[in-house]
This record gives sequence, C-alpha cells and structure tokens, in this order.
Amino acid sequence: MRLTEEQNAILAVIDHIAAQFPRRYWLEKARAGEFPEELWQALAKAGILGLAIPEQYGGSGLGLTEMALVQERLAEHGIPLLLLVVGPGLSLMILAKHASDRMKSRLLPAASRGERVFCFGITEANAGSNTLRIATTAERDGNEWVLTGTKHFISGADRADDLVVVARTRPYALEKRDGLSLFVVDLKSPGVRLKWEPMHLTAAEHQFQVTLDHVRVPDEALVGEEGAGWQYLFDGLNPERINVAAIAIGLGRHLLNRAVAYARERVVFSHPIGAHQGIQHPLAEAKIHLELAAVMNHYAAAAYDRQEEAGPWANMAKVGAVDAALEAADIAIEVHGGNAFSESYDLLSLWELVRLFKTAPVARELALNYIGEHVLGLPKAL
Ligand SMILES: Cc1cc2nc3c(=O)[nH]c(=O)nc-3n(C[C@H](O)[C@H](O)[C@H](O)COP(=O)(O)OP(=O)(O)OC[C@H]3O[C@@H](n4cnc5c(N)ncnc54)[C@H](O)[C@@H]3O)c2cc1C
Repeated sequence: MRLTEEQNAILAVIDHIAAQFPRRYWLEKARAGEFPEELWQALAKAGILGLAIPEQYGGSGLGLTEMALVQERLAEHGIPLLLLVVGPGLSLMILAKHASDRMKSRLLPAASRGERVFCFGITEANAGSNTLRIATTAERDGNEWVLTGTKHFISGADRADDLVVVARTRPYALEKRDGLSLFVVDLKSPGVRLKWEPMHLTAAEHQFQVTLDHVRVPDEALVGEEGAGWQYLFDGLNPERINVAAIAIGLGRHLLNRAVAYARERVVFSHPIGAHQGIQHPLAEAKIHLELAAVMNHYAAAAYDRQEEAGPWANMAKVGAVDAALEAADIAIEVHGGNAFSESYDLLSLWELVRLFKTAPVARELALNYIGEHVLGLPKAL
C-alpha cells in the first residue's frame, strides 16, 4: 500500500512512542491491572487522539484511514488499546459527525488533548447482539432526560470521563429502529454505578457493568436528533470494526514476526525448524492472509472517509482480518512448541485478544449474516 508522506510521518511518531513505551511496559501495566497512562498521554501529546477530529474542534482533520493505520502499527508493536477504539475510533467518530456545534465545541477539543476520555455503551446482558432489544430508557422530564438501565462489558469505564450510551426514547413495540437515541453521560453524574467484571483477558482496560439509575442529564446531552440513534450508530460501529480489524492485523504481524524469528533460530534434528515446509508454508500462508486483509481494511477505511457505504467493506475486513490473525496466532503457537505456553514467552496473552475479536465487538456470525444479506442479497439470516 502506498502511504502519503503525512501517513508515514504519523507512523514514525508511533514507532517513536512504541520505543519509549514498548510491549514490555504495556504488559507490566496490563498484568498489574493498571492503565498505561504515560503511553496514553504520549499519544495525546503527539496529537494521535485527535487525528480524526476536525481542525476547528482541535483535531488534525484527518480520517479513519490514519486512525486505523495507527491502531495497526501500535498493535504490530504489541500495544493494543481498546480505549483508543471505543473513544477516538468510535464515540468521537459519531460525535464529530452528528453532535451539535455546541456539543462538539464543549467535548472534542478536550478529547483531542486527552483531557476527556470516552467509552461506549451499547451491550446489555439480556439483549446481547440484538441491539434493538436493549432495555435502557431515556425519558424526557422538562429540559432534562432521565436515563435508566444497565450496560455490560463496558471497556475502560473506570478510566473514561464520559459514556456515549445507546438508549430507547420510544419503546420497541412502537418504533423498533427510530426509538433509539444516543446520549453523552458524564460518568461522575449522580446515579451512575460501575461494577468491575473480571475477564480472562490480558488487556490495558478493564470491563464494567455500568448502571444508570435515574441519571439526569441536560437536554444538550442528546446527540443530534431524538430517535436518530440507529442511523448514527453505524458511523461509529463501522469504524469500530475497521479499527478492530487493524489491531488484529497488527497483532497478527507481531505474532508472525516472532514466529519467523523463532523458526530461524530454533534447531532440532540438526536444522532450523523454519527449513521444514511443514512450518514454512503455514507461515507464508498466514502472511498472505494478513496482507490481503490489510489491503481490504485500508480500502474499508478509505470508503468511510469518502463518505461511501462502508458497511460491506468494514464487515468483510473485520472477518478477514480476525481469521488471518487467528491463523497467525495458531502457527506462532505451533512454532514455539512448549515454550508457547510459558508465561515468559507472552504468546497466549496475544492470542486471547485476537480470539476476543472473533466474538466482539461483533460476533463473526453476525458479520457473516450482514454480508449474506447486504452484500450477496440472500434472505435475512435466522
Ligand atoms: C472484553 C470485552 C470488551 C467489550 N467491550 C464493550 C464495550 O466497550 N462496549 C459495549 O457496548 N460492549 C462491549 N463488549 C460486548 C461485545 O460487543 C459483545 O460481547 C458482543 O457483541 C457479543 O454479544 P454477546 O456477548 O451478548 O453475545 P450473544 O449475542 O449472546 O451471542 C453469543 C454467540 O451466539 C452466536 N449468535 C448470536 N446471534 C446470532 C445470529 N443471529 N446468527 C448466528 N449466530 C449468532 C454468535 O456465535 C455469538 O458469539 C465487550 C465484550 C468483551 C468480551
């Protein structure tokens, strides 16, 4: 892929930051359950958090293409950040497109500087992947809204300042899609409660159940128009899929690079194991599939930036990237033999995250359903 001078310069900044805060630093933080704050602040200082925010709101006015390149390169260094996905890669994408000027002026410059951090809440235990079945409600009361409900698995809610949350302003029975609205909720508001949900995952972020117990927010906390949430959502969920695909590709390359280095050095039966076709071919195949996915993901991000329909590309890229990354993870584990299972080799910790992406933020089956219906024109899947 031919990158612009500016994109190459951004990647050089990421390489520099990754040299200061390498995977070793990230892993120590993740294992200690601490957020890698110095790394986050370095990204903020370098303008990375505001890359896709318009210049008039304090950002660089670039796009998802650059954001995805950053996610990919950070992951290639073994430094995946879910908050970079759910904040700048999802919530801020929606706000930049659909919030009022007033809301954008209030939130985006601070977000660009890293002073306000955003998480995103759509998932609920009872609705699962069926977003239209969410039960969180927002009811108007004078010039305020009152939000009630519980979101589940919310990444980074302890570190975030604000939650962009999906709520029902009209019941499912009356308005399936046009009953959803988006709100920005200050997580310090009275009535917000966080409950840590311990996960089997090596990550820089924790997940939380976030309960909104009659949380009052002002009228201006509503993003755009009431009832237009479903329409706005995919301007965030498609970027999220593209960002996650980018992280999967980056982690896949990281795993593959480590597998290749090990396969060159490790000698059994008098030859480096990388000399065996049984090892070399799966490594080569994983490389092909990762780079194919990278090209498609780049195309998906560019389609979004050109304001074209990005859904087909975003879903195809997400499935392709995660499959390729899982393939790379599996061969990396195979190549390392028993050492793959040794904590000091830090391989299974990478697999956990790659495997997560098969299920979240959108399950592989749901993405395939989308492709079946919207790309191939098949009947809606059951
Ligand atoms: C570590 C982590 C971080 C997360 N962070 C966030 C976050 O920050 N914000 C947020 O809102 N959510 C977050 N989530 C939630 C995540 O988006 C959901 O877990 C994911 O969308 C899957 O939903 P579910 O867990 O309810 O699975 P379910 O909907 O219960 O689905 C379970 C499985 O059933 C199958 N399935 C379901 N429906 C279909 C169908 N129609 N066709 C075929 N197969 C189907 C799929 O295999 C799927 O994996 C996070 C989850 C995890 C684990």
